[in-house]
Amino acid sequence: MTKIPSRKTKIIVTMGPALESGARLEEAMLAGAGIFRLNMAHTSPDAARAVIRKIRAASQRVGIEVAILMDIKGPEIRTGDLASPITLELGVNFDFTCETESTEVWHGDGTASVGVNYRDLVHDVRVGDELLVDSGLLRFAVIEKHTARLRCRVLVAGVLSSRRHVNLPGVDVNLPAFTAKDRADTAVGLEEGVDYIAQSFVRRASDVHELRAFIKENNSRAQIIAKIEDQSGIRNLEEIVEAADALMVARGDLGIECPYQDLPIIQRRIVNTCLEQGRPVIIATHMLESMIDRAMPTRAEISDVANAVYEQADAVMLSGETAMGQFPIECIQVLDKIARRIESEPDAGTRCSVAVNSERMKMLHSAATLANRLPGSQILAFTRLGLNGSRLAALRPIQAPILAVTPVPEIFRQLNLHRAVTPFLMPFDADPDVTIERAISMLRRAGAVSAGDKLVIVSDIIAQDQTWESIQLRVVR
Ligand code: PEP
Repeated sequence: MTKIPSRKTKIIVTMGPALESGARLEEAMLAGAGIFRLNMAHTSPDAARAVIRKIRAASQRVGIEVAILMDIKGPEIRTGDLASPITLELGVNFDFTCETESTEVWHGDGTASVGVNYRDLVHDVRVGDELLVDSGLLRFAVIEKHTARLRCRVLVAGVLSSRRHVNLPGVDVNLPAFTAKDRADTAVGLEEGVDYIAQSFVRRASDVHELRAFIKENNSRAQIIAKIEDQSGIRNLEEIVEAADALMVARGDLGIECPYQDLPIIQRRIVNTCLEQGRPVIIATHMLESMIDRAMPTRAEISDVANAVYEQADAVMLSGETAMGQFPIECIQVLDKIARRIESEPDAGTRCSVAVNSERMKMLHSAATLANRLPGSQILAFTRLGLNGSRLAALRPIQAPILAVTPVPEIFRQLNLHRAVTPFLMPFDADPDVTIERAISMLRRAGAVSAGDKLVIVSDIIAQDQTWESIQLRVVR
């Protein structure tokens, strides 16, 4: 039987009506989606609970274990309710007020205004700054500051409706990092055992520490994915990468908060920083946007996905494509196809920039080097807390897949995010040799290895009554 090589780049899909109907969830798992994301900007805690249970049930039915990522909304500035949408013409004046969220019209000079939910708006922005509304569809320049009121000029015309998202590119806003809604959502997520919390608009390491403390208080092992979405996050990138378990290049908001021509440079900088610090990194948003209502990707989208694979991101993420698109399963298949094709190119797996300082890293580096020298080999790593698995992934072995065996269910699911890692769940025996033999039999049954395969094994061994870490080369019998 020819083994199909496993795909190194992981696929994250966002939940929504398109994935929740019929047998779509099962189909998504069978098509290769390994992580399911709940976007809490559009979900209540009760709805999230139901969706999490649905995912776990589907996963049981198909016999594929998947990870669940709860993406909390974070701080957000938005406009208030409007009785009816306002059409804003190019060049007219318009006011944003921060004393109330309600809308009013100035009868004195005829200038319309809308309230925003951010009290320090006038204090934080300067005359000349830009204010973007509704994903940048409407753009304003600040021309005057008054008490609790900003006067702006419309730079890009459009229609303003109720409760639209406001971006203030380059402005250091002082909103709380972890809001009351985030707390309520996260509490439900942790109760339901989600594997990852993605934190939106992370601006500094202390934002991550605050969420980490909450996760600890709730006795959870959930890991934190810091979403880089604005200029503060980019400025403090190194300390955020250090504080978080993984990073997301959230290109939707980044593309509004930064000049769009900078986006590819920012993406590369985030990916490189993560590779250097050995943190998994996700490329998100608009990967296959045109496939929301078309069955085929554009040529530019194919190149964008390929670029993420060449850059050696750990995962690529679908948002609207799987949440409300017409072709959610086809999108997963397209990502799968492009990733496999690019990964098979000889120059697609040759970047290892992580620091090799600790003894453990030196040992794992030796295992990766051995696998690099043995064409067709695979790495089999035993990993109780996931460290051997995740560190090996950070070393980016050139061709060898990493088969990571753990006895801990949460670690098993979390390893799904790491590039080239295929996790397996199995109890360990007190004797490491028995554990190795048991794992090889399991991998044979799963079709992951077959007779004659070379395995570079990272495991404990017992010698003279002591436990040692070892690297072994074995051939599957
Ligand atoms: C993004 O901005 O790219 C992103 C992933 O965040 P959200 O979908 O929460 O806006």
